[in-house]
Amino acid sequence: MIVAMNADASRSDIEAVIDRISTYDLKAQSMPGGERTAVGIVSAIPPDLRDALTVTLQGMPGVDHVTQVTRAYKRASREFHPTDTIVTVKGVSVGGREVIVAAGPCAIESREQLMAAAEVVKANGGKILRGGAFKPRTSPYAFQGLGLEGLKLLKEAGEATGLVTVTEVMDDHDLDAIIEHADILQIGARNMQNYPLLTAVGKSKHPVIIKRGPSATIDEWLLAAEYVLAQGNGNAILCERGVHPLDRQHTRYTLDLSAVPVAKALSHLPVIVDPSHACGNWRYVSAMSKAAISAGADGLLVEIHPNPGSALCDGAQSLSLDSFRTLMGELGTVADAVDRCLD
Ligand code: PEP
Ligand code: MN
Repeated sequence: MIVAMNADASRSDIEAVIDRISTYDLKAQSMPGGERTAVGIVSAIPPDLRDALTVTLQGMPGVDHVTQVTRAYKRASREFHPTDTIVTVKGVSVGGREVIVAAGPCAIESREQLMAAAEVVKANGGKILRGGAFKPRTSPYAFQGLGLEGLKLLKEAGEATGLVTVTEVMDDHDLDAIIEHADILQIGARNMQNYPLLTAVGKSKHPVIIKRGPSATIDEWLLAAEYVLAQGNGNAILCERGVHPLDRQHTRYTLDLSAVPVAKALSHLPVIVDPSHACGNWRYVSAMSKAAISAGADGLLVEIHPNPGSALCDGAQSLSLDSFRTLMGELGTVADAVDRCLD
């Protein structure tokens, strides 16, 4: 429920509304806007209280109107927060006019591999370096990542290049170490519905990219973000990375690009796109990167590797450093065409 105050409502009118809501054991949050303030009720309102509460609040001084929010997510919704959220990490802003490119290897394999990728990201206008240290692999026998050693290399590469860094957190036991070494956390597709992990990441207040699970609806994805926001962590970025395909013959997943404008209409959070995991084949990554920007994505998350043929993880979908350079040279025109820009 949202209580829209009059433009000339006083501070004490607003406080009286918040106090009245709290007498019902409900949590209210003041949401100052450009012209007027709104008060949002973030707790679930018992159905039998809804109508009576609407009437009560509607009659209070300074109240313009009361709207019932029907969506399950609140803090993540545009109704609660009409203006775009911009997540800024060390001077890099995701969700503004500039399209932000995050790139790097799927898994951190060595200092040489990571640095070679990082330098190319930096030199070609990328702003964020990605690299997995804890890898969620389908097979327990596949390379699981370098763990803490990988985190140290990521931090080193971030410091050497000035790039912001992102890495996946799979287990809340690793959270402190990851926060110490990386600027942004990544909740992987497989963990989108790991609610204790989302809650821990929310409590940490550390910026986070939340990938959409391959079987998750858009509402389930926004509810995952709600878990993070509900803990007071507003630094959340949504990432579409492909949903389960009809068949896997030609692409690994199906990139649901319609999810970009939909998520941006339903939510104020920035939305980025990972074309690499969606396609599973580097040949299609360039086309889908351009399509993502055209669809309104605020950024891209792309896998690159100095030698994709020898990658320990996701080599088939990783762009070579040359292909990445070419892609970065082409994205600016696409961004311009949709009134965005690329550094
Ligand atoms: C990754 O980014 O390397 C990754 C494992 O992605 P996803 O969670 O989307 O599969
Ligand atoms: Mn990967």
